[in-house]
Amino acid sequence: MKGYYDVVEDGGSAVLEQVEAQQERVDQGLAGVRNVLAVGSGKGGVGKSTMTMQLACALRERGNSVSILDADLNGPSQARLGAVQDGILVPSESGAQVPTTRSGIGVVSMGTLYPEPRAIEFASVASGSSHTWRATREFTVLRELLAGMSWGTLDYLLVDLPPGVERIVQFAELLGETALFVLIAIPSDLARGIVARSIDALERTPNRTLGYIENMDGYYCSDCETVKPLYPAQSQVKLDLPCLGSVPFDPELAALCDRGGSLEDAPRLVSREPVGQIADEICRLVSECSAFAKERA
Ligand code: ADP
Repeated sequence: MKGYYDVVEDGGSAVLEQVEAQQERVDQGLAGVRNVLAVGSGKGGVGKSTMTMQLACALRERGNSVSILDADLNGPSQARLGAVQDGILVPSESGAQVPTTRSGIGVVSMGTLYPEPRAIEFASVASGSSHTWRATREFTVLRELLAGMSWGTLDYLLVDLPPGVERIVQFAELLGETALFVLIAIPSDLARGIVARSIDALERTPNRTLGYIENMDGYYCSDCETVKPLYPAQSQVKLDLPCLGSVPFDPELAALCDRGGSLEDAPRLVSREPVGQIADEICRLVSECSAFAKERA
């Protein structure tokens, strides 16, 4: 049996050419997408998926064409959030058609392809080695989704990232230098410490990080109509990024997310205004970035 070091170059698999060809198809697939905005954190459970969908809704309400790629293949949330669990990926000449929410947001999520409670499984060449293959297969699936969907002309493709600091860097590579990043933090040092690591990781990429959103900044009490503290103390961990805005924890928003409700069903949601202001700030920063890129061209 050949040892690892006996394999010369790619061992005749032409893997590099395959990845390059796939990357070319990704670039073609995304040719009509003006802005790719990745929403990450490093930490799980801080509201990345929730904020991705809420931002998509706010951007859509402001007249933008928006789709979401749920890049969390192992813990997909966007199908439920957008109520497209039963969506069908209809093939067309330009790629599979993207299922859309009631308000017209395209959503590509493993939650549509794998109905709950089925877990995604990555086939392995040998038992006990699935972990070695997972990352490679995962990014192959992601490239296939980026290349194989008919994204059409979009103002924004939002990418809901999985947790993990180092993975943010992998996504920066996958999405390319022009992809912009927004990070989600909560007022807890435990979470902010990890977001600080993500900022450090992103600094080593050529990608621009627009800022962070402080989610769960207080708890909205509907009885007294005020925002009360959710986390006990002021955070000690400073984040070296502009804060794009804060959103309180709102039980009504949590319930809306669980049932995949649309913003039209909840016109008085307290998060609507702060998320709208964050979307406005993102649009302003994005047009600043495009003006800067044009100047340099
Ligand atoms: P992540 O994508 O970072 O793992 P989620 O977006 O899945 O986190 O959020 C975790 C849970 O917290 C979900 O049940 C979601 O509905 C809830 N949640 C997140 N942000 C808010 C918020 N601002 N108000 C109410 N519920 C929220």
